[in-house]
Amino acid sequence: MDTIQRYRIGDATVTRVTELILSEVPSAFLFPDRDRTVLTHCRPSWIGPENVSTDGETLTLSVHSWIVQTGRHTVVIDTGAGNGKSRPLNPIFDRLETPYLERLAAAGIRSEDVDFVLVTHLHVDHVGWNTVRKGERWVPTFPNAKYVFSEAEYRFYADVEHVQTPSAGVFEDSVQPIVDAGQALLIDAGHQQPIDGFTFHRTKGHSFDHLSISLESNGEHALFSGDVVHHPVQVAKPEWNSVFCEFQDDAQASRLWALNYAANHGATFFSSHFPGTSAGIVSREDDGFGWLPL
Ligand SMILES: [Zn+2]
Repeated sequence: MDTIQRYRIGDATVTRVTELILSEVPSAFLFPDRDRTVLTHCRPSWIGPENVSTDGETLTLSVHSWIVQTGRHTVVIDTGAGNGKSRPLNPIFDRLETPYLERLAAAGIRSEDVDFVLVTHLHVDHVGWNTVRKGERWVPTFPNAKYVFSEAEYRFYADVEHVQTPSAGVFEDSVQPIVDAGQALLIDAGHQQPIDGFTFHRTKGHSFDHLSISLESNGEHALFSGDVVHHPVQVAKPEWNSVFCEFQDDAQASRLWALNYAANHGATFFSSHFPGTSAGIVSREDDGFGWLPL
C-alpha cells in the first residue's frame, strides 16, 4: 500500500497517512438511492477502476488522516478508527491492529510534535487515534496537542440515544478521554477560529454539527471536506446521500456547499474517503461538477 502522499498549499505541506483501504463496499448499501448505470456505462470518465468494480456493485473507500505542516504548526485532521477499540457492532473497525503510528513516523511526524488535532465529526472512523490504550485507560495519542472539535457535536453525542450503531462506544473511548485530559478545545465554528490559516465551516448533515475545514496559505486554498462526500461518484451525483448521513436534507445542502466552495476558490479538495489519491480539483461542468484527481 502506498501510504504517504504529499501536496503543497502555499507555504504548507499536506501529507496523507493511510490507515485502511476498504474494498468490496456494496454500492447499494452505501448509497441507498444509487442508480447503478451511473457506476457502469454512464460512469463519468474520472471514476476509474480503482474506485468501483466493473459491474458497479462494489466500491473502494480509504480511511486516512491528512497532516498539515504550516511551518508554525503540525496539524492532524481526523484520526481514523484506531487500534484495539472494541466495536462489536461494527466489525470492520473492531479491535484493529494497523501500523498507523509507524506510518506517521515514516512520514516524519512524531506524535509529541503534533500541535493540533482537528476533528471534522465524532463518528467511528474519524476519532479512533485520538486515544491509545495505556493500562486500563484510554489516553491522548498526541500528548502535546489541543484537539479541536465542535462543542454542539460533543454535547449532542454525549447523549447515548443520539449515537448511531456504527459509532457505539466511540464517545467513551475516543472523545471523553480527551476532554478529561484537558486537551479538548470545543468550539462554536460560527464564532471561533482558533488557528491561523484554518477556517472551520459548519456543514451539518452527515452528523449533528459536522465541520469542514479550509486552509489558506500564501494565496492558495484547500478544503478538508470531512464526510460531506464519501466517494467521487457524489461529485457527479451530489444528491446521493450515504447510508451514514444522519440528517438527509442538510447533508445534501452541505455537499453542494462544499463542492461550490472548492470550485469557487480553486481549492484543492482533500476528501476523507475517496480511493486513489483522495485529493483533487472540483470543476464546474454544464450539468454539475467534475473531478480531477491530483
Ligand atoms: Zn467517515
